[in-house]
Amino acid sequence: MTRSTVSFLGGVREIGGNKIVIEDGDERILFDFGPSFSPAFEQFYVDFLQPRTASPIKDLLEFDLIPRVEGLYSEAALSGADLAYRAPEFHGIFLTHAHADHAGYLQYLDPEIPVYVGKGTRALLDAISQSTGQKYGEHDWRLFEDRTPVRIGGIEVVPHPVDHSIPFAYGYIVRTSEGSIAYTGDFRQHGPRAADTHAFFEAVEAEKVDAIAIEGTRAGNDPRMNFSEDGVRREVDRVLGSTHDIALACTYPRDVDRLLTLHAAARAAGRELLVSSRTAFLLNSMAPLFPAGAVPIPGKSAGLAVYARKKRMTYLWERPFLDAALPAEEVRRTGSRYLLALDFYHFPEMIDLRPPSNSPFIHSMSEPFSEDDVSDEVMHRWLDHFGLTFLQAHASGHASGPELMSLLDRVRAGTVFPIHTENPEAFRAHSGRVVPPELRERYPIGGSAGVSR
Ligand SMILES: [Zn+2]
Ligand SMILES: [Zn+2]
Repeated sequence: MTRSTVSFLGGVREIGGNKIVIEDGDERILFDFGPSFSPAFEQFYVDFLQPRTASPIKDLLEFDLIPRVEGLYSEAALSGADLAYRAPEFHGIFLTHAHADHAGYLQYLDPEIPVYVGKGTRALLDAISQSTGQKYGEHDWRLFEDRTPVRIGGIEVVPHPVDHSIPFAYGYIVRTSEGSIAYTGDFRQHGPRAADTHAFFEAVEAEKVDAIAIEGTRAGNDPRMNFSEDGVRREVDRVLGSTHDIALACTYPRDVDRLLTLHAAARAAGRELLVSSRTAFLLNSMAPLFPAGAVPIPGKSAGLAVYARKKRMTYLWERPFLDAALPAEEVRRTGSRYLLALDFYHFPEMIDLRPPSNSPFIHSMSEPFSEDDVSDEVMHRWLDHFGLTFLQAHASGHASGPELMSLLDRVRAGTVFPIHTENPEAFRAHSGRVVPPELRERYPIGGSAGVSR
């Protein structure tokens, strides 16, 4: 019987939701555990229609939106579900990074199962749970060091930092008694930590892995425009150099690299970057984890200030950042001094800001996946209403299809499992053995056998 297997409980023919199980005899560990961005979820739960906090697993199992696995969930999360509580049958879970589609369901796991993360990921999860509605639950946290093996029974896991659109992202090399497998997590090689991605793939190549589970978000045909992070900087420089009005930008909330790019561009143009109190809180939490001066600190660093959104109630965590925050009236008067990072959900601020027509709006996020993206239509309606000039400038968090193929050619893994993609067939362009995984099927890690029965 095969001792060492890998199976996929999520991230199969969908973007996000990776849940990878690696077993070696009695040892069983898990990699990532979050909801996918698949339409399946939104067929039943959308906007404020969400699983009940009193019976989350029951409400997700009803529509097959979370794996039916024993010895994994906490007793509290299982409340009311037709899945019995069993003592943990997993010996650890490793997270690749703090994006919701990889960590969002952590809150439902049995708190007895150790959670292995890097120090930075832990700090990010803390910052997110303190300043948003996303919670991760109580856990037996175990912090690992970069490139230092962690042993769990007979399994050895080596965490390698990689470049992604959130800091402190990891790929793993996992050694079992019958072979080794690499798991890339989400990665790119066109951001500020590209060298980390290169070093990871060098290690994977040197390991001569039997298998690799690789993300394929951008595998196949992706007609959307993609910049490098440096390319985004040049584009923002160009925009700021050609306007004397306020400039607006919209980014992902945890894309620290993008915030640094916007901050550097604003400073170079003699402007200040204005951020929300939540972004200020994030930067303040992240700064100690980076080399001194690398991440600007609200209230201390030049070229950074907080925008005071109109609201009736404030949270404790944001109060330290609100004292010196600038209200709409002041920003409106002296708009040319600022690059304002404004979330989509905070667009009503424009009603007070009244940006002069033709002021630039830099959309520094992914272009929509489909033509009928509702929020994209709404965004453009707002921009048209205020006569703003739309510009797209984004560096994706993911490697392109051709990059994925050339990396696979280099590492020459025995078997390639494409995950985190709607297009696993695109990996057939790779000359090696490609196995688009089936949900819950167990695949041997060593050798070249097919499905383990
Ligand atoms: Zn992801
Ligand atoms: Zn990600």
